[in-house]
Amino acid sequence: PAVTATPVVSQVNATPAASRSYSSGTKKVTLIPGDGIGPEISAAVQKIFTAANVPIEWEAVDVTPVRGPDGKFGIPQAAIDSVNTNKIGLKGPLMTPVGKGHRSLNLALRKEFNLYANVRPCRSLEGYKTLYDDVDVVTIRENTEGEYSGIEHEIVDGVVQSIKLITEEASKRVAEYAFQYAKNNNRKKVTVVHKANIMRMSDGLFLRCVRDMAQKFPEIQFEEKYLDTVCLNMVQNPGKYDVLVMPNLYGDILSDMCAGLVGGLGLTPSGNMGLNGALFESVHGTAPDIAGKDLANPTALLLSAVMMLRHMELNTYADKIERAAFETIKEGKYLTGDLGGRAKCSEFTNEICAKL
Ligand code: NAD
Repeated sequence: PAVTATPVVSQVNATPAASRSYSSGTKKVTLIPGDGIGPEISAAVQKIFTAANVPIEWEAVDVTPVRGPDGKFGIPQAAIDSVNTNKIGLKGPLMTPVGKGHRSLNLALRKEFNLYANVRPCRSLEGYKTLYDDVDVVTIRENTEGEYSGIEHEIVDGVVQSIKLITEEASKRVAEYAFQYAKNNNRKKVTVVHKANIMRMSDGLFLRCVRDMAQKFPEIQFEEKYLDTVCLNMVQNPGKYDVLVMPNLYGDILSDMCAGLVGGLGLTPSGNMGLNGALFESVHGTAPDIAGKDLANPTALLLSAVMMLRHMELNTYADKIERAAFETIKEGKYLTGDLGGRAKCSEFTNEICAKL
């Protein structure tokens, strides 16, 4: 694919307030309800937002792939236009066909809107017992290239090749995002996670870009760690990590491990940050095993929506909703099955509304 050399510094928007105008009036937000449990948990989030009087208007769009003039399947134009206009969206999980069929819609959305940084905060929740109570890490993953570039081919029968693409441009901008995020959110340290000892050229380039960026943020501590070391430390002593930045595939895997440390996929939110907009979504998938049964935990999508509110500078609403959700979990009376409880998604949602 063509790689353009646009200047990186100054494009990155790790949520500085001044440049945006979300604070006044009602703002439209694109909603992609998604597949499987997506519609149920999206409805739960909408209900909680209504109860909290959040001044936004949802614009729900369908992203079911449609056949374009070239005969290929892609995201419907109406959905693309909605995100391009609103520049902000909340997305439920989307089913990905394995091995065949249309390409991952999640990847297509990231590419379409150049959502270059995936941000996943993972924090231990008070009152919900897990192995550690001091997990507070944010994984920041390069979101557009690496092994997920989608460049694959069969060389001869029985031999396939997948290209890991790393560019200076994408590495620099995600590095800048990570340091800017650390600075804006009063974080102390950024760790770059890599395998440059083996992937000398690709991870070597990524590492160099993050190293160079570290020089521009002397107030943030910086360290370099191998992926395997981080995995080991993360399960033995997660409290030693703060903000972590890494190439795409490593971030996909490591962030799920972090989710496991704080109570599972039902709790972990994420944001896909781009040059022209941002799309917030839960880390988990469509959970086909429990879809349509009112059993899903809506917390991950709700906390993604809370991240979205902070991005829009609607912090009062974000704080209020987050507090109600955390109190509901801490009380433990209305927990969903994934957290060891018996409550339905709707009961958990009603309890959060009652606490607002
Ligand atoms: P999954 O995350 O959907 O489910 C894994 C397990 O976690 C299941 O047992 C499920 O019931 C449980 N779980 C997940 N979210 C939950 C929630 N909110 N509340 C309670 N339990 C929850 O992973 P999977 O089964 O590997 O993937 C299913 C589909 O989702 C696949 O098509 C996959 O490609 C897709 N997927 C999409 C995204 C996305 O849209 N961002 C992310 C991951 C997977």
